[in-house]
Amino acid sequence: MENLRIGVDLGGTKVEAVVVRLGGDAPDVLVRKRVPTHAERGYDAIVQATCELVRDVGRECGADDLPIGIGMPGSVTYRRSDGTRSDVPLVKNANTTSLNGRPFHADVQRALGRPIAFANDANCFALAEATWGASRGARVSFGVIMGTGVGGGIVLRGESGVLRAWDGAQGIAGEWGHLSLDAENGLPCYCGRRGCVEMYLAGPRIEQTYAARSGKTKSLSEIAQAAYEGEPAASRLMAERFELFGRAMATVIDILDPDVVVLGGGVSNVEGLYHEGIDAVRHWVFNDELGTRIVKHQIGDSAGVLGAALLPE
Ligand SMILES: [Zn+2]
Repeated sequence: MENLRIGVDLGGTKVEAVVVRLGGDAPDVLVRKRVPTHAERGYDAIVQATCELVRDVGRECGADDLPIGIGMPGSVTYRRSDGTRSDVPLVKNANTTSLNGRPFHADVQRALGRPIAFANDANCFALAEATWGASRGARVSFGVIMGTGVGGGIVLRGESGVLRAWDGAQGIAGEWGHLSLDAENGLPCYCGRRGCVEMYLAGPRIEQTYAARSGKTKSLSEIAQAAYEGEPAASRLMAERFELFGRAMATVIDILDPDVVVLGGGVSNVEGLYHEGIDAVRHWVFNDELGTRIVKHQIGDSAGVLGAALLPE
């Protein structure tokens, strides 16, 4: 049972759990299972599905007491919607909206009868990449998710070499997706402000803007390919987005100055980010050169669930 951990990734459509042996150069996955989230069945069903999956993967390894880490979208708050304070953390900003305002952490811990480490999915991604992937060896790394939304997680390496996801005093560290690039005339965001990074760099937003401007429906990879081939609408749009990526990422680098930035999520497969995108970061960063490595993820789709397994101390 040495070094075994359970990691859970709670997504909008599926819940995935793994049992991983830690300590090696690569993640050693002993068990992997996924079930549908069934968000439409409501909060209690999500709690139940999560707990059953955890018991299930533990049983497969013959253990019912492995440390558990759970990664999920959103952050936490202690403020209830009526303004009063909660004693336990409540889910905030999750795209599985039935979780919002609910004490998911406390309910899952009570159902399973043991403490659990929680973090948002971007922190898990950043932790997995820093442990086994593209930002290995970095003292400070910033893991970026650019997918259906835009988020980020900060990982710090302590004196003893221990890696820790830094979630900040309010749990919002690394949330660069809602930096406003144009507060007056920018695209309206669901957070109530305008011009947020996510409105420009999330995959579906790029596709929507392309469709609105050109009258044609294309996937992000098709738009990137069309831009590469010189189609005017696609070229202009991607050039704009690389420029905005540069401005936003330079702001993060000016403040955090990480050794490595790792890009993940569907948008990270756009090759132009690693050329024009990095050129734009270099232009906007407050330095006469760009020493920050900005690289593509290595762990890929499993980084969330594997990073969750790294959360328990
Ligand atoms: Zn926003």
